Amino acid sequence: MTEKYVMLTFDLEEFDIPEEYGQEVSLYDQLNVTCLGMERLLEVLEKYRIPATFFTTGNFGRHRPELVRKLSENHEIASHAMYHAPSHAFQESDIGESKRVLEEITGRPVTGFRMPRLKPFDRGKLPDMGIHYSSCVNPTYLPGRYNSLRENPLPGIKEGLMELPCSTVPGFRFPLFWLSFKNLPSGVYNGLCSLTLRSRKNLMLYYHPWEFADIGGYNLPAYVKNPDGSRLTRKLERLIESLLAQKAVFITCSDFIEMLKS
Ligand SMILES: [Zn+2]
Repeated sequence: MTEKYVMLTFDLEEFDIPEEYGQEVSLYDQLNVTCLGMERLLEVLEKYRIPATFFTTGNFGRHRPELVRKLSENHEIASHAMYHAPSHAFQESDIGESKRVLEEITGRPVTGFRMPRLKPFDRGKLPDMGIHYSSCVNPTYLPGRYNSLRENPLPGIKEGLMELPCSTVPGFRFPLFWLSFKNLPSGVYNGLCSLTLRSRKNLMLYYHPWEFADIGGYNLPAYVKNPDGSRLTRKLERLIESLLAQKAVFITCSDFIEMLKS
């Protein structure tokens, strides 16, 4: 690989994370917070003219079909199952249903899948459902969530299907995911991204549109909600500028996989 590729990915989902901390939020407000964050996020993606991949729940698509259809013109829409809330027990049929819903809205094939909260599931059936890749592994140790230190940290075949794991810093597997982006100073996070990109020639980063809304009033720990809104948006701009300065090429996940094959 001669170029350096960056996959910016976002979980386009209901803003249900307050439920994990005991606060009920109506579906209307969940969708609204996500849409407010999307407005800021899209301004940035349009400003720098970069494509991203949106792992979208079928439920979000059903409630905001126009937004998802519009997004699909410049970005990739992949599946993030049907529902995101922990109160909705996951069923295998949710994968196929979300794919159908999103394909109906966008008129384009949906070939990628990411499991909500990266929970383990039986991925063996994904190829039969028309899924060509998954992005379900954060190959690190996250206390109370998962221990994936044995997972391959590089894009590769896992159980018969291409896996695009979340990028971790080579050697000590520090995860370059949304919580690190939010909590580390920009200079440190951007530096770790540069180091990883130089070494691996690719980066797979994941965030959520709702992080770019003003969520300070919700019952969430400070490390989950600070900074939010325009401060976090500015951080994203600094990250993109730092990556562009290294001549990184922004690419959707499905285009990256096509490129690997060629
Ligand atoms: Zn999610």
